[in-house]
Amino acid sequence: MDFSVTAEQRGLVEAARVFARDHIAPNYRLRDQQGALDRATLRKMGELGFFGVELPEEVGGLGQSCQTAGLVVEALCGEDLNLGYISITASLLGQILHNFGQPDAVRPWIEGMLRGELIPAISLTEPGGGSDAANLKLKARRDGDFYVIDGEKTSTSMASQADFAVVFARTGTTESRAKGISSFLVPLDTPGITRTSFDDHGTRSVGRGSLFFDSARIPAKYLLGEENKGFSQVMTGFDYSRALLGILCLAVARLSLDAAWRYAGERHTFGKPLSEYQGVTFPLAEAETHWTAARLLCLQTLWLKDQGLPHTSEAAMCKWWGPKLAYDIVGTCLLTHGHGGYSKDMPFEQRLRDLLGLQIGDGTAQIMKMVIARQKTRE
Ligand SMILES: Cc1cc2nc3c(=O)[nH]c(=O)nc-3n(C[C@H](O)[C@H](O)[C@H](O)COP(=O)(O)OP(=O)(O)OC[C@H]3O[C@@H](n4cnc5c(N)ncnc54)[C@H](O)[C@@H]3O)c2cc1C
Repeated sequence: MDFSVTAEQRGLVEAARVFARDHIAPNYRLRDQQGALDRATLRKMGELGFFGVELPEEVGGLGQSCQTAGLVVEALCGEDLNLGYISITASLLGQILHNFGQPDAVRPWIEGMLRGELIPAISLTEPGGGSDAANLKLKARRDGDFYVIDGEKTSTSMASQADFAVVFARTGTTESRAKGISSFLVPLDTPGITRTSFDDHGTRSVGRGSLFFDSARIPAKYLLGEENKGFSQVMTGFDYSRALLGILCLAVARLSLDAAWRYAGERHTFGKPLSEYQGVTFPLAEAETHWTAARLLCLQTLWLKDQGLPHTSEAAMCKWWGPKLAYDIVGTCLLTHGHGGYSKDMPFEQRLRDLLGLQIGDGTAQIMKMVIARQKTRE
């Protein structure tokens, strides 16, 4: 394995880190209070080439490795995990649209998304099926040059702000389960689509909500890949996004740990700095150990993807361990800061709220462990 990066990659990652410090960190709390993403910041991120780093240049990406894309997400979005949703959704959907969409039909949407002008969403979960995602009921039927979609999706991130979504709908029989599902690019201003917003604990600037389809007519050119093959198409992409989600959460933990070490050096109790007390430093030292191992796992998974090697179980490990570990580490860092850490004037409580959602979104820890167990019992 080789995780070394070229000078060009290092320059990109450093530019992302500086942008995050100067333009993302200052408004982390404000975006949470406003409950909305800030489109001007997304456009700046797009202009600087931070979306779709691994996508080919002909569709507006930078043609870099997946490992580089992971390092950019880490540098860019640790200051606000919410922006990581946009970045990772852009990577996931960029690959799906590029690989399975009709080029002329999907190109404007990919390009708009990578420029930071269009907010994407992915809509799989339904009221009756989250973990059991193949048990979906949203119906799509062909009608000439259109598909007509009826039913309900729920728990879609960015639901009320997104410009388009990749939506999964049943085109086959219910009994066909995953083999009867197709995926579509759906412009969300299509007549017949309405949306609602949830009042969530965290990730409030991204938001979540339901999409209702009442005979919404989608041009047939927006079918992605073949009819009834939509489910397997996206599942392959999830291996990649799971590694990115892991490294994203760990980036939040990194910033919290750096702050906790600094504070432990500055704050004095009983005549000595906190850093003199092993009761303070050992939990941080343990966190450093776990953080280092988990980050290496994410880098290894991205490296496997870059090599074209299987990485399904490693990706599931990143997805269950990264958000859980990051949550625990940020909790430790909050406690290290005493009463100040508990205040909204510091970012820890918001980071905890934001991280908790990613222990559920994109698949819970139990489902990830089922994936790992399935892979291991097959080997
Ligand atoms: C912040 C956030 C963002 C999200 N964003 C999106 C999005 O953009 N698009 C989208 O489509 N969905 C999204 N989701 C939905 C998410 O993918 C689902 O919530 C998730 O897959 C779990 O489904 P569920 O909530 O229906 O729980 P259920 O499937 O009902 O599960 C309930 C509990 O039981 C456990 N469980 C279920 N089955 C088993 C089993 N066989 N063995 C052991 N335990 C089991 C689960 O782990 C969970 O703890 C998001 C959710 C959150 C919280």
